[in-house]
Amino acid sequence: MENIIIVGAGLVGSLLSVYLARAGFKVSVYDRNSDPRQVNLQSGRSINITLSERGFRALDAVGAGDTVRELCIPVCGRIMHARDGELTYQPYGNNKEAIYSIGRDDLSKALVNFAQKHENIEFYFNQKCIDIDLPTARLKLQDLQTGEITQVQADRIFAADGAYSPVRYKMQRLKRFNYSQEYLDRGYKEIIIPAGNEGNWALEKNAIHIWPRDSFMLIGFPNLDKSFTLSLHLPYEEEISHNSTASPDALQNLFETYFPDIWPLVYPNLGDYAKKPVESMITIKCFPWSYQDKVLLIGDSCHAVVPSYGQGANAGFENCQLLTQCIEKHLGDWQTAFKEYETLRKPEMDVLAHLCLEHFTVLRKMVGDRKFIERAKIERKLQEMNSEYASLYYNISFTSMSYSEALRSERIHQEIISEFAEKNLKSEVSV
Ligand SMILES: Cc1cc2nc3c(=O)[nH]c(=O)nc-3n(C[C@H](O)[C@H](O)[C@H](O)COP(=O)(O)OP(=O)(O)OC[C@H]3O[C@@H](n4cnc5c(N)ncnc54)[C@H](O)[C@@H]3O)c2cc1C
Repeated sequence: MENIIIVGAGLVGSLLSVYLARAGFKVSVYDRNSDPRQVNLQSGRSINITLSERGFRALDAVGAGDTVRELCIPVCGRIMHARDGELTYQPYGNNKEAIYSIGRDDLSKALVNFAQKHENIEFYFNQKCIDIDLPTARLKLQDLQTGEITQVQADRIFAADGAYSPVRYKMQRLKRFNYSQEYLDRGYKEIIIPAGNEGNWALEKNAIHIWPRDSFMLIGFPNLDKSFTLSLHLPYEEEISHNSTASPDALQNLFETYFPDIWPLVYPNLGDYAKKPVESMITIKCFPWSYQDKVLLIGDSCHAVVPSYGQGANAGFENCQLLTQCIEKHLGDWQTAFKEYETLRKPEMDVLAHLCLEHFTVLRKMVGDRKFIERAKIERKLQEMNSEYASLYYNISFTSMSYSEALRSERIHQEIISEFAEKNLKSEVSV
């Protein structure tokens, strides 16, 4: 049995371990963090994430979907909160299609638990990768509890060690390795709104709540414990920014001016908001993703995207499935398997990165706009008439259509939708 090491027991590393174990390999997973089942992680990253069709397909294919579903809340649309308190509901589809909100820690624990049921998977926590020798697939690890340094070697290493991947960092020094990173010019801070007085959700639970305000926004996700996680996205530098709202008075002024309906719920729950760091969001691209037949990058380590579409983990899960298909197709010929996988997926991840950047602007600037809401209605009407006319958001979130195909289809259908919208508006005017 070949030995495989996975660096990173995050969302992608844990699921990948299951795929590889089921394909017959012996898998050892090393992570610098403590066992997520014993601690409350929640350091820095978003508190919850949303899973969609393509993510669930990859979970279901190894039997992990239902365990995860139990921890999720279905979200069937967006509720936009205008400054005057008016609410507008926009369903995602015509048939109550939902994305699923889940606590990041809950998902992480569920995946590690699920993986540990496989006898050929071992997890090693508090083990920080401090170096890798690429040609020999040898890792240098530091035990973060004892300080002890050890070396481990495998036939192959998969680096699911996140956006700041130390393995990728080593690959960046290789000749002809391409790498780029770009930070979004906005950052976010999270605020938890606990369950309301009678133990109910304080806001409608089966929706994502958005307060779009052009250059900034507030967005809220339901949690299983009936709390809501709000993320305040502000520029770093502009007139209204994290800097300019750092004081309690300025923050209150921001909420009372732009998000007055939610301030009474936010105010008692600010806790140590002022002390929290502003979290950044990054797009990472690189190529190649593999080093010979020895090392492969997977997940955020090679394709981190900004979270507007809620697709980073979903795409990472999908990639575990595709990679395993390539490995099984070229069994024993790892280099061909790696090459096929990265050639197939790199263009897709580049399209996703682009769509995610665009969608951030849509969320903060457009979703509250009357024209945008009308257009979305037309899109749903057209889709009802002909299922091929699904919106870009629909194809990304509720199908497993490739990202590039979803973009191609969007370009074709936008023209049709524009024509339809124009006719509709004209007939409205003439009425
Ligand atoms: C604000 C925000 C919201 C998001 N929302 C969504 C969403 O709604 N839906 C969605 O699909 N995606 C979402 N994402 C993206 C998603 O979080 C990532 O795509 C996903 O976590 C990637 O998984 P990963 O396993 O590749 O990396 P990670 O989850 O980052 O895991 C990397 C692991 O590697 C370990 N590691 C790092 N360095 C070392 C080292 N030196 N030695 C050993 N271990 C190491 C870390 O401890 C960690 O456990 C969001 C991201 C952000 C920032």
